Amino acid sequence: MSNPLGLENQKLQIETPAIPRPPKRSRDYQQISIYKDVNPLDWEDWHWQLKHRIRTKEELSQIIKLTPEEEKGIDKARGRLAMAITPYWASLIDAEDPNCPIRRQSVPVSAEFSIAPHEMADPCAEDRDSPAPHLVHRYPDRVLLLATEHCAMYCRHCTRRRLVGEHETKEENPLTRFDAAIEYIKANRKIRDVLISGGDPLILEDEELESLVQKIRAISHVEFLRIGTRIPVTLPQRVTEKLADMLKKYSPIWMSIHFNHPKEITKRCKLACDMLSESGIPLGSQSVLLKGVNDRPYVMKRLVHDLLQIRVRPYYIYQCDPVRGTQHFRTPVAAGINIIEKLRGHTSGYAVPTYVIDGPGGGGKIPVGPNYILSQAKGKYVLRNYKGKIYTYLE
Ligand SMILES: *Cc1c(COP(=O)(O)O)cnc(C)c1O
Repeated sequence: MSNPLGLENQKLQIETPAIPRPPKRSRDYQQISIYKDVNPLDWEDWHWQLKHRIRTKEELSQIIKLTPEEEKGIDKARGRLAMAITPYWASLIDAEDPNCPIRRQSVPVSAEFSIAPHEMADPCAEDRDSPAPHLVHRYPDRVLLLATEHCAMYCRHCTRRRLVGEHETKEENPLTRFDAAIEYIKANRKIRDVLISGGDPLILEDEELESLVQKIRAISHVEFLRIGTRIPVTLPQRVTEKLADMLKKYSPIWMSIHFNHPKEITKRCKLACDMLSESGIPLGSQSVLLKGVNDRPYVMKRLVHDLLQIRVRPYYIYQCDPVRGTQHFRTPVAAGINIIEKLRGHTSGYAVPTYVIDGPGGGGKIPVGPNYILSQAKGKYVLRNYKGKIYTYLE
């Protein structure tokens, strides 16, 4: 950037205050012809939702009018990271608008198959930092456990597309598949935080998830668990009373939920988040910065405000990793910095997430944001505030 202090943003800083909400064009599912006769009890059954996921062009074209790019994309997206869309998520798609943020995150397009030279299969070098199957150990005191390779809906910007999808998984004994990972955590007394992610861990049946959580909880030096998931957004019906009660027993468990756009925060999603909150699970959000989806500051501002209202604390915004086939989603880094510039100070501190770049090659999450230190000398800092006013602080 020409101005590393970000001062050129000053003029742009004040956003038009009240941008009207765009008309809500998502439909009640009963208005969608192929779902109009679905029994509401079936609709609320997460197994029914999974079983009736949309996987073909023919099914999807009964709900939305596909563009040629989408038709080509769906044809090519066979095998790894094939299309899979829950009926619930499909009911949120705008049938007329190919730029609908819900649609762009879930319907493959031909651009996914043009790979830029710098794009990688494993941009964060997770496979290199794996000391045991399903485990990534990057930071000394915490580990990432990849509990499954499946999700309710496959995000087109998935950073773990090398692993995740509806392909045949290796035959593994479900009772012993995490044994080596658990042994590794047991043997490493420095590990105080275990992040269970995937794929989506909430795609597991309650019993399988409980068995894993129980084994990790039984390790005395593990202080707390976290679950990384998108299911409260893509399949909120999965969050049942039974699941919430089960998780409650293993408190403290924290949860990071992948939210990208205010349209994802429906009444049904709020209900799922309420059940989790009421089971004592603090909720955070993780968003991926996506071109045309959430790269405008006013969209992100609405998202973080809506999240606080459903008791979800904005945690991270990720720069879209240079993973193969995601060029059409990637924004300049300046777009992310500009979003933070327009949040910090202009809204509640709780609404401001940290914008991070996962260092390509395994650097971990590196925070990037506006610079508020203008200069520093012995015993003296020159700072600017969110309005660009300058202050000197003497130490
Ligand atoms: C993101 C991540 C974590 C957790 O990082 P926090 O900043 O503590 O949320 C841990 N391990 C790996 C490999 C990660 O990518």
